[in-house]
Amino acid sequence: MKNRSMLVVEDLYKNFGNLEVLRRINMSVERGEVVCILGPSGGGKSTLLRCINHLEMPTRGRVLIDGEPIGHQQTENGIIRQPTEVLCRMRAQIGMVFQHFNLWPQKSALGNVIEGLTQVKRMPEDEARKVGVELLTKVGLAEKVDQGPSRLSGGQKQRVAIARALAMQPKIMLFDEPTSALDPELIGEVLEVMKVLAAEGMTMVVVTHEVGFAREVGDRIIFIDMGVIVEEGTPEAFLNTPQQERTKKFLSRILY
Ligand code: ADP
Ligand code: MG
Repeated sequence: MKNRSMLVVEDLYKNFGNLEVLRRINMSVERGEVVCILGPSGGGKSTLLRCINHLEMPTRGRVLIDGEPIGHQQTENGIIRQPTEVLCRMRAQIGMVFQHFNLWPQKSALGNVIEGLTQVKRMPEDEARKVGVELLTKVGLAEKVDQGPSRLSGGQKQRVAIARALAMQPKIMLFDEPTSALDPELIGEVLEVMKVLAAEGMTMVVVTHEVGFAREVGDRIIFIDMGVIVEEGTPEAFLNTPQQERTKKFLSRILY
């Protein structure tokens, strides 16, 4: 089963009341692949990521992480909602990084990173601290271990959030516009950390407006507009020779 996809999204639909936000989304992400999702605001990108880790329940369709369905499972009596402990175990395999970092304001950088290790994984405190320091060092924050979020820049906070997600040893990392809330001069340091992760073989889905990052680091770009996948391709094909009118229009707006 080595060659099964890390993520499969099958015929996924999501409605909010009468509003159809995602329609028949099919995609898969291979082990170690970096897929960047581009698209205009309101197109359904965040909803898709939230459906992938089941923060939103899809209206139809299913999501498999490393071959295992998340949210629902097949039993001899048919398809049932996953028990909470199974859903939690599935979710722990998915690292999520948001536009707003959602760090605990009262905790130090290290405290934020090890929270999941001590509370969810029940790792002894001293062991967790060791892992946490290693991860903060990896994202370039060895000096900030004991600092609270209020004394960190936006870029530093986002790097803490990435370290926190990595602490759970996820199989896949989902990024939802991780640099959109940052001052321009802080964007590079966050993208640099993501680039290192990609080079190490992390499987990543990255919603972003950073076309340079998508071109350089992405293996594939998926363009989502009005709830559907309009077009996808290698960064080179997608950015240089887009096929669909909607894609061309979008790119012409953001590239110049
Ligand atoms: P994007 O991330 O591409 O900007 P979103 O996934 O955030 O798009 O939103 C897609 C559409 O779904 C928007 O029209 C948004 O208003 C709507 N939407 C998102 N979340 C909800 C919700 N919880 N309830 C109702 N509508 C929602
Ligand atoms: Mg969004």
